[in-house]
Amino acid sequence: MHVSVVLFTSDLRLHDHPPLRAALTRPGQVVPLFVRDRGVAAAGFAVPNRLAFLADCLHDLDAGLRARGGRLVVRSGDVVDEVCRVVTEVDAADVHVAADVSAYAQRREARLRRELEAQGCRLWVHDTVNSVVPPGTVAPAASDHFAVFSPYFRRWSGQRLRDTSDAPRAVRVPDSAGSEELPVREGRAAVSEGLPAGGETEGRKRLTAWLRGGLAAYGDRQDDLAGDATSRLSPHLHFGTLSPVEVVHRVRQAGGPGAEAFVRQMAWRDFHRQVLAARPDAATADYRTRGDRWRSERAARADVEAWREGRTGYPAIDAAMRQLRREGWMPGRARLLAASFLTKTLYVDWRVGARHFLRLLVDGDVANNQLNWQWMAGTGTDTRPNRVLNPVVQARRHDPDGAYVRRWVPELSAVEGPAVHEPWRLRGGERAACGAYPDPIVDLSDGLARFRRARGLD
Ligand SMILES: Cc1cc2nc3c(=O)[nH]c(=O)nc-3n(C[C@H](O)[C@H](O)[C@H](O)COP(=O)(O)OP(=O)(O)OC[C@H]3O[C@@H](n4cnc5c(N)ncnc54)[C@H](O)[C@@H]3O)c2cc1C
Repeated sequence: MHVSVVLFTSDLRLHDHPPLRAALTRPGQVVPLFVRDRGVAAAGFAVPNRLAFLADCLHDLDAGLRARGGRLVVRSGDVVDEVCRVVTEVDAADVHVAADVSAYAQRREARLRRELEAQGCRLWVHDTVNSVVPPGTVAPAASDHFAVFSPYFRRWSGQRLRDTSDAPRAVRVPDSAGSEELPVREGRAAVSEGLPAGGETEGRKRLTAWLRGGLAAYGDRQDDLAGDATSRLSPHLHFGTLSPVEVVHRVRQAGGPGAEAFVRQMAWRDFHRQVLAARPDAATADYRTRGDRWRSERAARADVEAWREGRTGYPAIDAAMRQLRREGWMPGRARLLAASFLTKTLYVDWRVGARHFLRLLVDGDVANNQLNWQWMAGTGTDTRPNRVLNPVVQARRHDPDGAYVRRWVPELSAVEGPAVHEPWRLRGGERAACGAYPDPIVDLSDGLARFRRARGLD
């Protein structure tokens, strides 16, 4: 009897899953395995919001497998040791896994290959599971990756995508493959109140609703802060409860004015993944240094604290930071504003902000978090590294009526219209009605002058 192991990592789905499909092409049995990896926890990456979402995903995956005659096998420990142990227990001939891009994932793959080969077991790595166009598929003549998005996007758009596949009809799991209990979401401490539900079933529902409802207007409304007009598919793409290849196919089929803008954002996701795959150190080191001598977390303690707590005195920034804490998620425009404010206006090291985001974001992702932070800090791939987003101008543009601020900053809920973006201009009773809402912690022109001096622009 031929037995394969399919190691699930950030690809927690049954639909359009090349490793599972490959394992099932041969008659025999399959062990669908998830390892609660000690290495991920040791790196500080296993945070309450993502663990809660993960618990949903594992339950849903198990339910999907049971409906097909199988089940999920869950183990805890060092991922490579656990895979090797399962391979021995069930006498597996091969292991299938999705390719991934971080330094950790690359080391995991190299170790798996070495140790499985020593056991006489073959490792198959599938590269279109988590990316639409895998890293390295398109590259400029003189480099192993694109450092600028526009030419990347042109080449990316010209790639022919593989066809998608349905979920398998049946999965047979050997009885000898023992599993731990699945982790549960209930009772976990420090989980954001408004955290969305995880799992493939939920992801597929959200995608279908998005194609019917939000996609058409996406091009015009993606930056509308109050409108909540983006897909919120990012946690599902991060955990792989949706296949990015399937998402792009279905969005293109749906067509219409929003589809092109949406697919472009999906290409940004691949763009950052191909940068990180080629330069794994960009998770912590400047991709392109600008000679910054950032203020550290310790030197800027009070400012960093105010930023984290949503008490900077700039309502749009504070709304964004409070939404992050409350939902474990925020829209892309809010992320840009919060990141510009920390790095450019407060001149604090981008790593301080990236760490805070990773502690809370349910979609917190090494490639997309770190490289978006670097983009905004001007140490990454932005071709205009010194751009500074003015939080008041941006708020007036992307939250013209102030509804986003009023939703997240209750102290300002009585202030009508766009005046909510500049509470320091309110007078008398109106200002008093804002209660303990703080005055701005920094003057925007002082912040700008500090940044320009630091970058040698003045
Ligand atoms: C400072 C900062 C940190 C970020 N951290 C993360 C992160 O940890 N994880 C993450 O998935 N995204 C991150 N992003 C990118 C982006 O903001 C989110 O993917 C997006 O806001 C998620 O909401 P959505 O699914 O509604 O996006 P939509 O606007 O509906 O976009 C659809 C999908 O396209 C992709 N996408 C959109 N914008 C980007 C982008 N700028 N870069 C890469 N992919 C993009 C995402 O997968 C997203 O789900 C970050 C952006 C910034 C500026």
